[in-house]
Amino acid sequence: MEEKAKVQAGLQNQFYVDSEKLSDSVLKKKHELEQNPASRTNYMEYEEGMERINSDIMEKVLHEMEHYHYEEYTEADVRQALAKDRCSIEDFKALLSPAAQPYLEEMAAKAKQETSKHFGNTVYMFTPLYLANYCENYCVYCGFNCYNDISRKQLTKEEIEKEMKIIADSGMEEILLLTGESRVKSSIEYIGEACKTAKKYFRNIGLEIYPVNSDEYRYLHECGADYVTVFQETYHGDKYETLHLMGHKRVFPYRFEAQERALMGGMRGVAFSALLGLADFRKDALATALHAYYLQRKYPYAEYSLSCPRLRPIINNNKINPLDVHESQLCQILCAYRIFLPFVGITVSSRETKQFRDGIVKIAATKVSAGVSTGIGDHESKYTGQEEGEAGDEQFEIADDRSFGQMYQELSEEGLQPVMNDYVYVRR
Ligand code: SF4
Repeated sequence: MEEKAKVQAGLQNQFYVDSEKLSDSVLKKKHELEQNPASRTNYMEYEEGMERINSDIMEKVLHEMEHYHYEEYTEADVRQALAKDRCSIEDFKALLSPAAQPYLEEMAAKAKQETSKHFGNTVYMFTPLYLANYCENYCVYCGFNCYNDISRKQLTKEEIEKEMKIIADSGMEEILLLTGESRVKSSIEYIGEACKTAKKYFRNIGLEIYPVNSDEYRYLHECGADYVTVFQETYHGDKYETLHLMGHKRVFPYRFEAQERALMGGMRGVAFSALLGLADFRKDALATALHAYYLQRKYPYAEYSLSCPRLRPIINNNKINPLDVHESQLCQILCAYRIFLPFVGITVSSRETKQFRDGIVKIAATKVSAGVSTGIGDHESKYTGQEEGEAGDEQFEIADDRSFGQMYQELSEEGLQPVMNDYVYVRR
């Protein structure tokens, strides 16, 4: 095996964990999925009940990604891209390439200019609320996966309201509702009810749930949701197949088309992301931005935003793990996003450190989470210090745990303008 392939296979194996609580038959199935590709379903085939839409966006994005040879771009291409007022797809490819790395300062200056042209000095704030951590999928890199031995919990209607009230009392006006991906545990009706409750406390309600059909998005929109976030995780089909071994998330095209179905269902905005570091991050960054770019051309009235979570490096060394995305590379991606798509929102999650987030909101990012908890039902203990009942386990550890108040104050002290809401619904 070639050295790079060995390293990548090793990285994948590091994700495999066997819980002692799994029975022999379950373990057998898990190992079969991990070791025998023939035991898995075809990841490009829709399952029964999954809506198919008439769209060529996936084809266009994957074509561009497959033909992106970033090592061919030169410093001259980068300089040319930076000199232009409007950034083409070719210019964007140059800005994402290794040749642009020495031009990070120039890229940051241009990105800052674009951000201030379109967003002034505003920074939008929101907080996520995890409703449940049950999941039917086996994504090998995620703590919520169905084989992982974690404490599972789903909030009741009363608990949801209690958590929302605590969050709303802190001053937050936008909430992002998340679930693990279990249709059985977190049904559309359950999520719809949570949206209706959220409507009492918040002005904007986002969803980060399993992808659904356009009529279901319509129902959730009627319940109060107006924004849908779906992470494709990676746009590399071969890699996607080896990381999502079981469950409906395994169906790559159905996931890819989720944002379009959400817009067809009447949602106001959609958000995209790859989990940078799962595969070749430059190609994933290209595909993420093009996914938004092509959709924006088809649905120009909608609002678009990009996130940029990265796998936290296991060993921060390029020689050991070639897929790690380092801070300067993340900064390059975000500046390239801003220059290519000046109008999109860019969210930087609390996976990143305070230092990184404080810096990037002055350059390219326009939205940050605050007062974050990725556990289930633990806002009360985190916000008030009081605890009642057991919380479900967290999906991942966060690096920036600043409260809403702290974040608000610190952004203001930096001369930025924290914004709680920038959208008004007019009822007729
Ligand atoms: S990434 Fe999402 S779908 Fe996959 S195991 Fe985690 S919660 Fe479930």
